[in-house]
Amino acid sequence: MNSRSSELFAAAQKIIPGGVNSPVRAFRNVGGEPFFVDRAKGARIWDVDGNEYIDYVASWGPAILGHAPAVIVDLVRDVASRGLSFGIPNPFEVELAQLICEWMPSIEKVRFVNSGTEAAMSAIRLARGFTKRDKIIKFDGCYHGHSDSLLVKSGSGALTHGQPDSAGVPQAFAGLTISIPFNDVDLVRKALNENEIAAVILEPVPANAGLYFPRENFLSILREECTKHGALLIFDEVMTGFRVARGGAQEIYGIKPDLTTLGKIIGGGLPVGAFGGRAEIMDQLSPNGPVYQAGTLSGNPLAMAAGLAQLRELDRINAWKILEEFGAQLEELMPKNDATTFHRIGSMFCLFFAPGPIVDLASAKRSDLKSFAKFFHGSLKRGVYFAPSQFETGFISTAHTPNDIERTAEIVREVL
Ligand SMILES: *Cc1c(COP(=O)(O)O)cnc(C)c1O
Repeated sequence: MNSRSSELFAAAQKIIPGGVNSPVRAFRNVGGEPFFVDRAKGARIWDVDGNEYIDYVASWGPAILGHAPAVIVDLVRDVASRGLSFGIPNPFEVELAQLICEWMPSIEKVRFVNSGTEAAMSAIRLARGFTKRDKIIKFDGCYHGHSDSLLVKSGSGALTHGQPDSAGVPQAFAGLTISIPFNDVDLVRKALNENEIAAVILEPVPANAGLYFPRENFLSILREECTKHGALLIFDEVMTGFRVARGGAQEIYGIKPDLTTLGKIIGGGLPVGAFGGRAEIMDQLSPNGPVYQAGTLSGNPLAMAAGLAQLRELDRINAWKILEEFGAQLEELMPKNDATTFHRIGSMFCLFFAPGPIVDLASAKRSDLKSFAKFFHGSLKRGVYFAPSQFETGFISTAHTPNDIERTAEIVREVL
C-alpha cells in the first residue's frame, strides 16, 4: 500500500513505540495498519487518503454529540482566545462541578484531573487514605486506566495484547489488588471477610472486555457488603457517566457509590477526568486533608468549557432518548444467529463472535477473534469504522442518523 496513511505509519513506527500513543490504535488484534485521520464531523471521519467512514468509536466515547459539534467548537474557540491555561481557578471549573453534582447526587464534591487513569488512581489513593487500609478488590476484565494498582487482570488494550498483567508493575503492588470474576458475589463476600479492604472498584456496566451486564442484584449486594465491611464502593463511570443516562449507570441501577470516577464525555473531546463522592471522603484530599493530589493542567479552562457545553447540549436535546432510539434501531436490524451475541445498553453496543450467555471476562474470551478480525476489515472496507478489537464497545452519537444505522446494518449483514 502506498497510501499517505501507510507512509505516516512507517514514519511513526520509527519514532513512536508501535507507531501509536495508545496500544489498541495499532490494529494488532485485527491485523493490518491503522489509518490516519484528516478530519471528522458529526458521525463521519475522513482519513488522510480521502476515505470516508461512519464512526462507531467516537474517540472511545467522548464524541457523544458526534465530532466537532458547533456548540463545543465555538465556545472553545472563544475561551481559547482569552487564554489556554492559567493554573489559577477559573469560573468553568465551578460551573462544571455544580452540574456534575446536580446530575449525580452521590457526588457531593468533585475534583478534576486530566484522564480517566488519573481519576481512578486518585480515587484509590483517597479510599486508602480514608479507610486507612491498603487492599482493594477489582473485577477481571474491568479496566480502570493503567496505574500500577489497577493494571491487574484489566480489560481494553491490555487484554487485546494478551498481557493482562503488565511488566513493570511490582508484585508488591499487584499483591494489594484482589481481582474477582464479575458477577461472582460469593467470591466478593469471601474476599471481604478475609481481608481488610479499602475499596471495591468496578465498572457498573463493564465495557472494556466487550460489553456485559451486572446480574440482578449484583450491584445492590456490593453496596450492602461494602457498607457492612467499611469498604468504599467506587463506580468507575469514565465510560458510562452521562452516556447511558443523565445520571450514569448509578441512576439506572439505583445505587449510590461512595466515590465515582468520570472522564471521556465530561471533557467534550479534550483531556479530562474527575473523581467525586461523599464530602466527608473528598475532604481528605489536599489542601483540606492528608491525601495528596494535584495537577498543573487540572481544571483547564478549555476542557472545562468543552465539557460544560457538551453536557448542557445533551440535556437540551434530551440526548438519552435519541440515543436509546438509535440503539434500539441498530439492535433490531442486527442479524441474529447462533455464532454471535449482540449486547446493548442505550447507545453502547458490542457484537461478540461467540454464543451467549456472556456474563464475565471468561465468557467474553470465548470469542472467535479471527472471525472478528475479518468482520472488522470487511466493515472498514465498506466504510464503517468499528473499534479494532473484539474487547471494546461501540458508541452511537446523536449525530448518527437512522439512515446511517440502516446502512451500517446492511453492511454488517453483507460482511457476516
Ligand atoms: C477509558 C477508561 C478509563 C481510562 O481513561 P483514560 O482517559 O484513557 O485514562 C478508565 N476507566 C474506564 C471505565 C474507561 O472506560
